[in-house]
Order: sequence, then C-alpha cells, then structure tokens
Amino acid sequence: MKRSFCLLLILIHVFLTLNAQKSPFEKNGESTATYEELIDFYQLLDKKHAQMKIFEYGPTDIGKVLSLIVLSRDQIFDPIEARKQNKCILLINNGIHPGEPEGIDASMMLVRDLLESNSIPKNVLIGIIPIYNIDGMLNRGLSRVNQNGPESYGFRGNYQNLDLNRDFIKSDSKNSKAFQRIFNAWKPEVFIDNHASNGADYQYVMTLISTQKDKLNSTLSDYLKSRMLPDLYSRMKASNFDMSPYVNSIKETPDAGITGFLETARYSTGYAALHNSIGFMPETHMLKPYPQRVDGIYKFMEHMIELVGRDANLIIKNKQIADADVSEQSFFPLQWTLDDRNFSLFRFKGYEARQKISEVSGLPRLFYDRNIPYEKDIRVFDNYLPSKAIKKPLAYIIPQSWQRVIDLMELNGVEMKRLAKDSEVELEVYYIEDYKTVGKPFEGHYLHSQVKLRTEYQKVKYHAGDFMVFTDQVRNRYIVETLEPQGVDSFFAWNFFDSVLGQKEHFSDYVFEDEAALILKKDPEMRARLEDEKKKNSALVQSPNQQLDWIYRNSKHYEKTHLRYPVGRLVRPAKIELN
Ligand SMILES: [Zn+2]
Repeated sequence: MKRSFCLLLILIHVFLTLNAQKSPFEKNGESTATYEELIDFYQLLDKKHAQMKIFEYGPTDIGKVLSLIVLSRDQIFDPIEARKQNKCILLINNGIHPGEPEGIDASMMLVRDLLESNSIPKNVLIGIIPIYNIDGMLNRGLSRVNQNGPESYGFRGNYQNLDLNRDFIKSDSKNSKAFQRIFNAWKPEVFIDNHASNGADYQYVMTLISTQKDKLNSTLSDYLKSRMLPDLYSRMKASNFDMSPYVNSIKETPDAGITGFLETARYSTGYAALHNSIGFMPETHMLKPYPQRVDGIYKFMEHMIELVGRDANLIIKNKQIADADVSEQSFFPLQWTLDDRNFSLFRFKGYEARQKISEVSGLPRLFYDRNIPYEKDIRVFDNYLPSKAIKKPLAYIIPQSWQRVIDLMELNGVEMKRLAKDSEVELEVYYIEDYKTVGKPFEGHYLHSQVKLRTEYQKVKYHAGDFMVFTDQVRNRYIVETLEPQGVDSFFAWNFFDSVLGQKEHFSDYVFEDEAALILKKDPEMRARLEDEKKKNSALVQSPNQQLDWIYRNSKHYEKTHLRYPVGRLVRPAKIELN
C-alpha cells in the first residue's frame, strides 16, 4: 500500500512538473522574457490560481500600467485587512534597470513554484512588481557590453532617459509616482530591489547591498545586523551562493578594502528607509553565466520569504516600534560621512589582480587572473556618521503655490492641514547663503549640494489654503529629509525651489545714486555699518556699484523673498486657524 502511494505521489509530481508553465528563460537558459511574454505568463498563472491577484497602478512614462502581483495564501488581497490579520508584507521590485533582468526571470519561476507547490507562508503577503521600467524593457538590445548574457535585454534608461533608481525623491517619471502609490498603499516591512552589477572580478555570483545600517532606524537596524543578515548569508551559502557585501572598492581592486554603499533617498532602498522598511539590493555579478545569476536571485528571494515567514511577528512589531520612534524623534540626520577609522574584516574570495600588456594600446592593463583565486581578510568600512543633523520644527508651512511638493507629500501619506484664512505667522525662515551646483545636468537636474543657510525669525504672510505639516507623524523622515534644504536628496537639492534663487527687482544705478545718498543721510546707523563693511572688504571700497548694491540690499526696497526658502519652520506654538 505504502509503496504504491509513494509511486502515485511521484507520478503526480512528474505530471505537475511536465505541465508546469515554462518561462522563456527556462526554455534555453539564455533568454530573458520580453514584455509581452512576461505579461502573458502572469495572466495565465492568474487564471489558474486563486492565491494570486494582479493589481494595476498608475500609468508609466510609456503609457502602460504598472502591475503588481500579490500572492496571499488566505486570498486576502487588501493591505488593511492583511495588516489586521498580522501579515507581514514583502515587496519585490524587478527591472528598475531592465538590462539586469535576473529578477524578472527568477520572479516568474518563483511565483509559479510558490503557487503550484502551495507554499506561500501563511503570515506573509508577497507583492511583486514584475517589471518597473517597462519603457526600458521594451527598448531591447545589447547595451551592457561586458555582461555575460542573456542574448538580449532591455535598456537602463526609461522613456525620458532617466535612471529610475535615482528618481524616488524628485519623481520625474510616472513610474516613480506609481511605485510610491504601491509602496504607500501596502507599506511593506521588507523590500527587495533586484539588480546586477559589474566592477572588479571575484568569485561570488551574489553580492548584497542592504539598507546602510546607520541610516536605518535603530530597532530595524539591530534586527537586520543581528539576525537577518547573518541568516541570509548562511542560508545562501548552504545553497551554494556564498555572498559578499557589494564590492564598492576603495581603490581599483577590492584588496585595499571596500566601503558600505550609502544609498540615500534617491535610491529605492534609501526611499524605503524613509518609510521604515528594510531594503535589500541583491546584485548578481554580470561576468558570471546568466543561469547562475538567475538561480542566485531565485534563492535569495526564496530565503527571504522563509525568513520573513519565520520572523513575521517580530518584523511587524519592530516596524511598529520604529514608526512610533520616528513620530517622536527630534533630531534628524541630513548628511553622512564615512568613518574611515573603523572597519571590520571580511573573508573575501577574490581573484588575483595582475597587469599585462594590452593588445589594444600596447600599454600595461589590469586583469583578474581566474587561475589564481584567493581567500583573505579585507577591510570593510561600513560605518557612517551623521555630519549634519537638524532639530525638527513643530510644523512646516508650505505655501500652496509649491504644488509639486504638496503632491509628493500627499502621495507619501503625509498628513496635512490647511490654513483656514490668510494669516501672519511668526516663524523661522531660511535664507540660502551659498550652494554648489553640478556643472552638467545629472538625471535631468542641476543638483545642488553644500547648501549654507542663514536662519531668521520673521513674520510671514501665508494664505488661506496653504499647507501645515506637523512633525509628529510616522512620515517624519520623509518630511524632514525632503523639506530641509541641506538634505542630500532634499527637494531643494533637486531644483524644486530654484525660482527663489533669482532676484525679481533691481535698481538702476544712476537713478538710485540720489536715493541711496538720502537713505544714508536719514540712517546714520546704516552708514556706520557700510563704513565697517568697507574696512573689511577692499573690493567694496573700489566699486561704486557694489556700494549701491549693499545699500539697496539693506534698504526697505530689497525683496524679502529673494533667496528666502519658501517653506517656513514653526518653532514656537502659535494660534493659527486650520481646516
Ligand atoms: Zn542596477
């Protein structure tokens, strides 16, 4: 009896395997799915399985909707209901760089296998974006010159030629807005964004960027360091995918050490960290054969699902603690620097870096000798120190004219109130004293950095309908890091407020001469200050025009709004009527 029962099970298994829906990748191991094949594959699975549902979010830049596959053992497909039933939410993103399609192909097989073996963990809801940069996926070619397969693949840029993995704050693409809608509707505790990488040669197929630990809320970070990462590394090793931290070499080769990758908020996992979600960017090594890379990503996601299932209650609780923390947190780091004095050692499996004569130039060139593998301790610098932090105000006031900012706040679930009537409010305002700007556009922007501010306490006129954002919210990190101009990825850095950098009115020098003389005559204190300035600044003494400009800027005629950052900081309680 027993033997025949076993035989029956084997036959059922063989039958299921033979009938399993095959992905284009599985047909020869060298092809990645086209967009049409991808959509057809998931639609077919959807017809067969009640534990899967396809959601459609927003348009993307190319006009097609962004799909989200949700897998739920109990067929709960509502994020609020899922949360009530204590389910942990894992979100997986694929094809942000469609030329790195491992995640696209691996996810197709993984979704099918989870459904067909009925093995979705009961306490985990799995969301998968099958392809994020649809635009790039449709633009197929061979644009990654060093990559070892597949036969052809999508392009990194989207329809606007944007790198979507720099677009999570500025949100120039519709793809980004649709993603943020997904992220804020489902609020995942854990997030994976699948990638492939180049750089040095070494023995690993899989490397990993996890949310930089110092940038993450400490409750989440403690769990990540003490449990999640050690378990992931050991489980991957047991699956024959020994992993290394992402190989961000200090010098040309990894021997001199590597640094942790500081993925600020413009990046997917940096954005996730603003929302207290633990993020991972597994990076396959693109010099390794494509089937191995797909398998590596498959195993990584599989182990992550197991881990999230095992620790679901703890992960949910940790996020609740982190969310409560951030609502009450007073100081927020805005910039980070690498601590180059502290490091840990990592047993690294590399290939010896050597020199030989180039057949192209006849000059020495670098190569990694795969015949000389080595294993040695290398230094890993993964400690970042906050180099700029800010105390949050009680609230920010955003004039309604800055609609782009308001839209993004809303998209990110920020609670806002509106001024009931025109009001004069005493608050802190910033003046932009200095900043640096890149010389060439970066991702469609002239990014600012090294912003210097002067703070003034002023009475500012706001209007009915302007927005008040209190800083007692779960979304505090998003609010502070985007609205504080000194944030690495602040809206100011990404040029949202550039119009305040221009002066609207000016003086005509020969006309203003007489007026300026009168001003100085009436205001001896100003005259004294001008004389003081002249003692410090010889250029001022030499330049009649500079002296006129100084008087103009110190007079009542000079516009207060020039270089004034328009978002005010309410730092003392005030009576303001709100809707
Ligand atoms: Zn990538």
